Amino acid sequence: MRKLWINGEFVDGAGGGRQAINPATEEIIGEYAQGGNQQVEQAVQAAKEAFPSWRRIPAGERAAMLHEVARLLRENREKLAMELSLETGRSIRKNRGYVDWSAECFDYYAELGRHYRGRVIPSPEASQLSLVLKVPLGVVAAIIPWNYPLLLLVWKLAPALAAGNTVVIKPASYTTWVSLGYQELFAHLPPGVVNIVSGPGAQVGEYLVKHPDVRMVAFTGSTEVGQQIMRLAADDMKHIHLELGGKDPLIVCADCELEEAMRAAVWAGFLNAGQVCTSVERVYVDQEVFDLFLDGVVDLTNKLVLGPGTDPESEVTPMIRPSEREKVADQVRKAQSAGATIHTGGRIPPSKSKGFFYEPTVLSGVTEDMLVMREETFGPVLPVVPVENFEEALSRSNQSQYGLGATLFTRDPKKVKLYMEEIEAGNVWVNDPLIDNLAGPFGGMKRSGIGRELGQEGFEEFFETKHVHWEIDGGVKPWWFPWDE
Ligand code: NDP
Repeated sequence: MRKLWINGEFVDGAGGGRQAINPATEEIIGEYAQGGNQQVEQAVQAAKEAFPSWRRIPAGERAAMLHEVARLLRENREKLAMELSLETGRSIRKNRGYVDWSAECFDYYAELGRHYRGRVIPSPEASQLSLVLKVPLGVVAAIIPWNYPLLLLVWKLAPALAAGNTVVIKPASYTTWVSLGYQELFAHLPPGVVNIVSGPGAQVGEYLVKHPDVRMVAFTGSTEVGQQIMRLAADDMKHIHLELGGKDPLIVCADCELEEAMRAAVWAGFLNAGQVCTSVERVYVDQEVFDLFLDGVVDLTNKLVLGPGTDPESEVTPMIRPSEREKVADQVRKAQSAGATIHTGGRIPPSKSKGFFYEPTVLSGVTEDMLVMREETFGPVLPVVPVENFEEALSRSNQSQYGLGATLFTRDPKKVKLYMEEIEAGNVWVNDPLIDNLAGPFGGMKRSGIGRELGQEGFEEFFETKHVHWEIDGGVKPWWFPWDE
């Protein structure tokens, strides 16, 4: 049974053992220990005690330890990718890439941490020195969703550690087994710098968020839980960083490369069975090319291969659990009864007696008031909507409570300029959806979150900023006394 990792040691959980399930086969793949509040106490205490020396480690030494994490990620690539596929169901080919990317992320922040500086700013007097100082926050809680259990952890962990913080990780319940295997990546770090505590979010996660010694909560997950975390963090004024749900639009203009737009829509709609925060979930297509586009997308969707992520040939992998699949199926059913047309999919594939598969689904005839157009659909569903022109598509794209990502397909630079300035999304893609860059900030607007991950911006989140005024010459200053002058 995989155990918790606290203060550099394996620890039993207070909550007994749990079984990890492969969503593609429903088979048990392993067992893991479930933590409780007591383990949160131990982990936060360990992180708190490790913080004073970790923050003081010379930048070069800390960078070397983080590069070692990157090396270990690369060394364990195949094992990690396979375990990720077993527990999430997602593609082994993609998972290999995510392990590589995680390693790059550690290398990137190791170097950023080594070179990062505050700054000296002008002072009114020659005898004064004014500095902007960046210092680590202390104990950071990293709360992770199940859909990218490694990558989304690394996006928090690498910058948090490079900034000099210590971390308590709370993985998602569905992906605890793989996450409790990460300790081998951190065993060379001083004890307490990284701790992993499993347990139910509503209990262990909340207890961690509320813990008075936690200075920052870095969270990726649903908007609902993000809102709760914001409330829980309010009492102690903790720093929060929230990466939440989305309802990303894709705008297809009549002047674009239509074949490419079709392929992109299918890829970005059905990757990881649509269980990606930046999945395309609404497609607005110029009416001039709407029929052509819809036919093309349905054709491509019908050719997709459904299967387990462990099979490199699989293109659409299973959903994580029947309960999550049911939420998606319910949105599709409601859309259909309100007048939407299902062109393909909309059901559990009859060929799959095992696994939590749902057929990739293409809808038309949807209206903005339907759940499938308003709420996040965390599954393989692509509603396609005709619009009169680009302006209408832009305006409808922005009529959402979410603002995570958006994609535009066009060849017209004037449209691109207007779109990149006015689209209400933190991640703005042109002719190529879902592409992130380690050095570029990632995050959402509106109900999609607060703060940014990756890049310089993602590093800044993990510091406290101080202004230092230093009077170098001693002596009583004329402006101290008397008060009335
Ligand atoms: P959840 O919000 O259900 O859970 C996320 C994490 O929070 C889990 O570790 C969960 O633990 C924990 N948690 C749950 N309740 C609480 C609580 N009250 N206090 C503290 N922690 C809690 O999200 P999912 O895991 O279902 O992930 C899917 C969601 O994540 C989607 O909405 C998706 O859009 C979003 N997401 C956003 C991304 C972004 O970058 N913007 C990227 C990827 C996903 P447990 O599992 O034990 O319940």
